[in-house]
Parts: sequence; structure tokens; C-alpha cells
Amino acid sequence: MDHASVNTPPDAAARRAVEPVICYPNDSLPPPDLSVYRAARVGARKTDEVRVAPRDASCFSVPAGGFFRISSVEGPQVGDLNLWQAENLEEKFFSGKTRAIHGTHVTAGERLWSCLPFLRPMATIIEDTLGWYGIDEFGGSVHDVIGTRCDPYTHHLLSGDHYHYCCHSNLSRALARHTGRPIEEIELQVHDVMNVFMCTGFTRDTGQYFMKASPVRPGDHIEFFAEIDLIGALSACPGGDCSTTHSSDAASCHPLLVEIFMPEDGALTGWQSATISGYDRGHGR
Ligand SMILES: [Zn+2]
Repeated sequence: MDHASVNTPPDAAARRAVEPVICYPNDSLPPPDLSVYRAARVGARKTDEVRVAPRDASCFSVPAGGFFRISSVEGPQVGDLNLWQAENLEEKFFSGKTRAIHGTHVTAGERLWSCLPFLRPMATIIEDTLGWYGIDEFGGSVHDVIGTRCDPYTHHLLSGDHYHYCCHSNLSRALARHTGRPIEEIELQVHDVMNVFMCTGFTRDTGQYFMKASPVRPGDHIEFFAEIDLIGALSACPGGDCSTTHSSDAASCHPLLVEIFMPEDGALTGWQSATISGYDRGHGR
């Protein structure tokens, strides 16, 4: 509905001209010491790997103090990442607050935070071979925390179709396999994702979420340090490189590789696993 003609106040231009302020100035957050993580990574040894098939998802486990690397292996492909605290699936990745703290897209030196009431870093990005991309002329960037995950419910809402290999379904199947719990129960733990390698933004004219062909190429990778014991799940999105469509079998899709590395004993001297929020949970009672 267009209210512009009837509701525009005489000082509209002045109101629009007010300078923005950053909602969450993050300079009070101590930055992670990447040199500690990277030094520990040098002597780390690979302990596991998982190859995620196209239009499917797989789970992986990473102990606190370990590393996991997600790599493009055969062709441009984006991945939808979920994270849970290994002992308690109620503590899961909080894309909304991660976005509020770090911005719409994340890269090396930034962290993935867990949901309330935990709110602690789950993982820290230590390396990103697409960090060079920056923000393009369309406002697009890589590795977003603004998308949700492609899902069959929204697809059904918009098309009436039933498609079973959206990232939401892939992640649900993977977590059901990993936990041995029924899919209709476990899908409630699947949450908004970090879109690994996906290139996205919001259009300036309509504010709509857009995607464009990912700049990822085989060999590109993003690597994380696990701040707590983690279960991860990664879906190789049916959108492939997300240059055209998703929620169908139309796009060309490729696998993704997840590798786990553990540092040598004593390599993380001075590092401690993240503790949950210190807020007393009084809530004004
Ligand atoms: Zn997807």
C-alpha cells in the first residue's frame, strides 16, 4: 500500500537525513586472538572428514579446541550450516544476534554466537579464502547470516509443490540420522543458518533478499575454531551456486567437504572454552 502521498510530512527529508548509529557497537567485545588459533592449527592433525553429497546434508562432531574446514571441491556450491552444543541441542546457533553483532556477512575474526539464554561464541572463523570479495556494487557479500534456509514450507506456500531436498529437509534428515530421533521431532531443532559461500544482499530499491552466483571455486574454504563441543550439520543446497533457482532439482549441484583437525596437546595454552552468558536471568521479577 502506498501511503506516500497522503502521509508524507513536510519535514520528511529532514527526518530521512538523520545519521544512523550502530545498534551494537562491538568495540567493547575483546577480539579473538587469531594468532593463538592459527599457531595451534599449524601442528594440528586431521581426525575426520565428511563429504556432503549434493542436495543432501551430513552431521559432524568437533570437540572444543578443534577446527573444522568447509571446502568447495568439485564446483561452485553453497552450504547451509547449523551448529548445536553437543550435549544440549537447545543451545543452537543464533544467526539474528550474530548478524546484530557482526553484520550481515561474516569472515575471519568474527564469531558464531549461540541462542538465548546462552549467548556465547560457538565458533570463531580463523580463515576465509573469499575474504577478498568485500561488498560488491549490488550490496552483495559472501557467507551471510541474513538468510534462513530454503525450506519446503515456504516453497509450498509460494508454489503449492512438495519438494523434499530443501536445506531444511536435508538438515532434518541428517540430524535424525545422527541422533536416532524421529525426523518430525528433530526438525524443530533445525534453525536459521550461516550461508557458507553464498553471495547475497538486500536490494536498495525494494529491500528484497537477493542471491547471485557465488564467487566460490574449488579449493576455496572457510575454517572455524570450535569454542565449545559442537555438532554441526551442513547441507549442500539444491540451489548449487545459487545463481538462478533453489528448491528444485534444476540447478547444477556439487558436494562440499568438511574436515576436522585437532591441535597437539598443549598447543592452546591460555585458551579456555567459552562460558554461557553471565546475565543473572532476573528479568525484573
Ligand atoms: Zn538451501
